[in-house]
This record gives sequence, structure tokens and C-alpha cells, in this order.
Amino acid sequence: MNEIDYIIVGQGLAGSVLAFQLMEEGKKIVVVDENHPQTSSKVAAGLCNPVVFKRLTKSWMVESTLPLAVNFYRNQEQLLGSNFYQEMPIYKLFVDEKECSFWKQKSNEPELFDWISDKNEKPFDENFIATPFGTSKVLQSGFLRTKKWLEAFQKYLIKNNAFIESKFNYADLKIEENTVYWNHFKAKGIIFCEGYKNINNPYFKHLPFKLTKGEVLSVDFENASLDVAINKGVFVLPYDGFYKLGATYDWDNIDENITEKAKKELLNKAQKFINGNIEVKAHKAGVRPTVSDRKPLLGVHHQHNNFFIFNGLGTKGVMLAPWLAQKFVRYLLHDEPLPEEVNINRFN
Ligand SMILES: Cc1cc2nc3c(=O)[nH]c(=O)nc-3n(C[C@H](O)[C@H](O)[C@H](O)COP(=O)(O)OP(=O)(O)OC[C@H]3O[C@@H](n4cnc5c(N)ncnc54)[C@H](O)[C@@H]3O)c2cc1C
Repeated sequence: MNEIDYIIVGQGLAGSVLAFQLMEEGKKIVVVDENHPQTSSKVAAGLCNPVVFKRLTKSWMVESTLPLAVNFYRNQEQLLGSNFYQEMPIYKLFVDEKECSFWKQKSNEPELFDWISDKNEKPFDENFIATPFGTSKVLQSGFLRTKKWLEAFQKYLIKNNAFIESKFNYADLKIEENTVYWNHFKAKGIIFCEGYKNINNPYFKHLPFKLTKGEVLSVDFENASLDVAINKGVFVLPYDGFYKLGATYDWDNIDENITEKAKKELLNKAQKFINGNIEVKAHKAGVRPTVSDRKPLLGVHHQHNNFFIFNGLGTKGVMLAPWLAQKFVRYLLHDEPLPEEVNINRFN
């Protein structure tokens, strides 16, 4: 038996960020993942957008989450010797005069002052991108190359004897007071970070996930290029020699199958502001672990005091994961309370 502190199930953004923070605290961990090719974290565009466009408000806790996230991914770059995070403005293309003046008004509010620009710009070649009502940009935004980071981080885990590629079967878990046994490991606790696959978890499947499938395309443009991200119903993100175009939101079909319907929807929306042919290079689908009240799901099982969950990262996992993991580690190791909004005991 290999004695460790925690078994972590899932090496998506949630499990990876948490694993690293626990290792930093000197804890012995092992991460189990089946390496499914189309997970939410691998498919994600990885955008860190401090603003919610729908209501034009700042993201929840952004003052804390964003700086911590950028710092975390920059440290990973140092540790693993590669580039994962890139700062990049997101230009909002206004659909009409009303949206343009709403943005202007909001940009003067103290809450949004640091996050959106008050300048209406026309930075694009109109032959390529039509901006009849102008554009303005989000400040302090960027994106994480999620798949690249997860792959590099998995190698780091392997080097530290802290990764097992396997499907985790709940039936293989043995529980004793204050101890769990799985495979050849004896651990103080187990932390489930399974993303949407939590629907199969007999201990936490009662939690009110409201899952959202998303599809995203990798595209290229004829005779034109772009070095900033843009958004007008869909986003276009320059991504190492091509562009990501996304994403769809589907609450009814919860699977990882790509669909012609989603592809058409994304291309139709993009063609409303992009002139010229859009060439599709790849098409991916994943399921976001979204929750009915749009807040993450962290905490301990109501009966098993060594079963934990770190999940529900929703649509903004890149920005939220490092801050949430910090709170979770303090809770786990130093008995600090979890923020109430994210604690699963809100559903007891
Ligand atoms: C199309 C799309 C676009 C997105 N765009 C963005 C974006 O721009 N910015 C942003 O911040 N977020 C974005 N997201 C959301 C983001 O992907 C999630 O917030 C985040 O990645 C969730 O991470 P996770 O680790 O909780 O889940 P997952 O990524 O689903 O990871 C769970 C892991 O657990 C493993 N696993 C599960 N069950 C088992 C088992 N029984 N045995 C072994 N392994 C198991 C899986 O293989 C997987 O690796 C997007 C999502 C989608 C689908």
C-alpha cells in the first residue's frame, strides 16, 4: 500500500489546479484520469473575460480571481518552460446604436471602470470585418492554452509519480473511518473533480448541475488576419496560427458529439460580420459543468467526511480555478470556511 494524503479524480482544469496547490503545501497526492480526448477543459477556448457580456457586468469576484489566475498560469510557464497564457484584448462589435451607448454609459460606472474601455474604436479593415456601430474593448482579458497546459502538467505529475491513467470505478473504492483505499493507495481523503461526468458519481450526483454542451470550430480566413479577439454573439480568437470560433450553448443534448447544426450556427453568426470565406479546420464539442445557481460546487459529503467535491466551474473555469483551489486548500488543510456561495451545503 502506498500511503498518500489525497486521491484526486479528474485532471481537467479543476483537478490540475487543485493538485498543484496541494503539492505546493507538501501533500502527497495521486491524480486519476482516463484521458478522454474531448473534455470541457481540452475543448475550451480558454478565454479569461472579466466581463459578462449578456448583462454587461463584471464577472463574479473578478478583482480576486483574475490576478490570481494570471499569476498561477505565469508560474506554470516558469515551472514547465512553455507559454500557456496570453494577454489579449477582446473587442465587442456593437449590434446597434443602443448597445453602443449602453456600453458608453457602463464604462463610466466605477464597477466597470477597470474592465472595459470607454473609447469607441474602428481598428479593423472594413473589407474584412464590418463594424457599422463601432467597437470597444475589454481590458485585462486573455486566454489560456488549456490543452497545452494540461498535457504539460500531466507530464509533471508523471515525473512526480502522481498520475495514473485509468477510468475510476466507484466500486473499487473501499472506505474506512478517516481512510479510503483505491488501487494500491491508502489515502486520508478523495476529491472528485470529474466535471460533468459527476452525473455518474453515486456520492455527489444529487447536486443540481444544469449542464451545457458547447461546440467550437478551428477556422482560417481567406486573405486576412486578426491579432485580437472579437465578439459579436460568437467569439473569434487568434490561436497559434489559426482561429477559434465559438461557442454554442445547448442544454438538451448532453454528449460530446459534434453537430452540423452547431457548425452552421457558428458560421452563420460569424459571416454576419466577417467578409470572405471561412475555412473550417476542426470541430470539437464538450460539456461544461454548469450549475443551476451558476456558482461552483465545493465541499464535503454529508455522510463521508473524507469525500470531497471540487466542481461546477461553469463557463469561466480558467479564471475561477486558481482562486477556488486556494480557498479549497485552506479549507482542507487549515480549517478555514469555504465561501458560502460555493459551499455545497447550500443545497442540504
Ligand atoms: C465549447 C466550450 C468552450 C469553453 N470556453 C471557455 C472559455 O473560453 N473560458 C473558460 O474559462 N471556460 C470555458 N469553458 C468552460 C471550461 O471548459 C470549464 O469551466 C472547465 O474546463 C471545467 O473543468 P473541470 O476540470 O471541472 O472539468 P473537465 O474538463 O470535464 O475535467 C474533468 C476530468 O475528469 C476526468 N474524469 C471524469 N470522470 C472520470 C472517471 N470516472 N475516471 C477517470 N477520469 C474521469 C475527465 O477525463 C476529465 O479530464 C468552455 C467549455 C466548452 C465546452
